[in-house]
Amino acid sequence: MESLLFWSSIDPTLDLEVISLAIDFYNTLGLENLSVSLNSIGCKICRPDFKKVLIDFVKLKIEKFCGDCQRRLDYNPLRIFDCKKKTCQLEIKNAPLILDFLCKVCDEHFRRLKKMLENLKINFQVNPYLVRGLDYYAKTVFEIISSSLGAQNSLCGGGRYDNLIEELGGKSAPAVGFALGIERVILVLEKEGNFPAPLNLDFFLIVLIEEAENLALTILRDLRKNSFSIERDYLKRNFKGQLKQADRLKVKFSLIIGEDELKKGKLTLKNMQSGIQEEIPLENLADNLKLKLKK
Ligand SMILES: [Zn+2]
Ligand SMILES: [Zn+2]
Repeated sequence: MESLLFWSSIDPTLDLEVISLAIDFYNTLGLENLSVSLNSIGCKICRPDFKKVLIDFVKLKIEKFCGDCQRRLDYNPLRIFDCKKKTCQLEIKNAPLILDFLCKVCDEHFRRLKKMLENLKINFQVNPYLVRGLDYYAKTVFEIISSSLGAQNSLCGGGRYDNLIEELGGKSAPAVGFALGIERVILVLEKEGNFPAPLNLDFFLIVLIEEAENLALTILRDLRKNSFSIERDYLKRNFKGQLKQADRLKVKFSLIIGEDELKKGKLTLKNMQSGIQEEIPLENLADNLKLKLKK
């Protein structure tokens, strides 16, 4: 806990780093057309005043809001901004906005964050209707939006969790972060035509006898640790079926373990293009295979 507190800070530079980390992560995966939707929802000092004004506003037209929003008014009025019902969305557009109620500290925090995003040329839009329903959020809230998605266009959501650790029973410690869903990433990659091609595998491991199972698992682990990409059969296919699978995966080499190989402490290495086979000792396997791949 002490080491966590050591890194804990209210500096908006950390908000910036977390937002740019999320953007960089998506860019590395090949996602395009991203932007940041950004807001500040204030702190324990300035938010209560805003909540009062918001509650008064909603109460004036309470019958225009849905049942869920009417209940939200008592325990979490900010969530009304999140309501997906058309009528509620229409009414809330005229509501007072939290950005007009920020205290000096929150206002300065938001101003600095926006400035840094501009400096780094990170595409963002202030969305004064963006909220996160949970009470542990403070100041910054953000979503990363993909214009390749339809109405459900948010890839991840996050912000400052300044009240979270204390609410969980820890010491008061500011924090910032985000949560993301991997399914939306896959959707965007497919829509943008950037879904990665299957890996170019180095090896396919063909296991011919049950007794070689333990050795097979050791080989897989050892070669993966040495940065080789290697796959094997998990459907108990016969020899022919496993060779076919290796062909389908377009591997350069197959590694074969059968009864003979197990006895000799060797593997058979089959070049899938030329069909040439040779024996490779199990000892220093990774090093021997490195040499083979270089050829
Ligand atoms: Zn504040
Ligand atoms: Zn509603």
